[in-house]
Amino acid sequence: MRIILLGAPGAGKGTQADSIKAKYPVAHISTGDMLRFHVKQETELGKNAKAYMDAGKLVPDDVIIAMMEHRLQEEDAKEGFMLDGFPRTIAQAEALDAMLSKLQLKLDAVVNLMIDDDTVVGRLTSRRVCRQCGEIYNTVLKPSSKEGVCDKCGGEVVQRDDDKEEVIRKRLSVFHEQTAPLIDYYSNQGLLVAVDATGGKDAVLKILEQKKANA
Ligand code: AMP
Repeated sequence: MRIILLGAPGAGKGTQADSIKAKYPVAHISTGDMLRFHVKQETELGKNAKAYMDAGKLVPDDVIIAMMEHRLQEEDAKEGFMLDGFPRTIAQAEALDAMLSKLQLKLDAVVNLMIDDDTVVGRLTSRRVCRQCGEIYNTVLKPSSKEGVCDKCGGEVVQRDDDKEEVIRKRLSVFHEQTAPLIDYYSNQGLLVAVDATGGKDAVLKILEQKKANA
């Protein structure tokens, strides 16, 4: 299975990916996670990307495209993959088309996780993450037992810099301007599958299974 999870920040791409992964052994490739890893390790790439990420802007296409060219050729991606947070611009989508045709691979579906902006702001301002192990919490739906301390590893639980409201609004406007055009791009390729992002953590898995059963 090779799919793209498309959707605004906070639509729950990571959560849907976890539920799909539990059923299908495909690589979950999140450009946001890859970039955060580089920032944490203070690599050259991480140092360049950090200012864009903190401001809620997109990291330049050439940086992301080069990073993904490597990633898609790694061993675990050969069996299939879910792309989470990539592509985010038409230029990235065109570069992905070129990479896939070089590798003689085809996409099965592009999932459009639909959600409105106010729901995203509510979701993301309440999101917290463990600095150490990456466990995700929510101040309303899933708080850690002790405020600011991870239940899993005892690490510090914090709000991501880019989950502050003004940054979220910026990320949403970037999504509408630069990423939303991909909906038409993939619709024209006959690949788009629309899913309600408030439909629960297995919403995408259920639709993919239906699609498979009808194929
Ligand atoms: P995410 O966790 O997917 O919301 O990504 C966090 C941040 O990483 C985004 O706000 C961007 O600054 C950056 N980022 C992640 N993926 C991409 C991409 N495909 N193109 C450009 N920037 C990206």
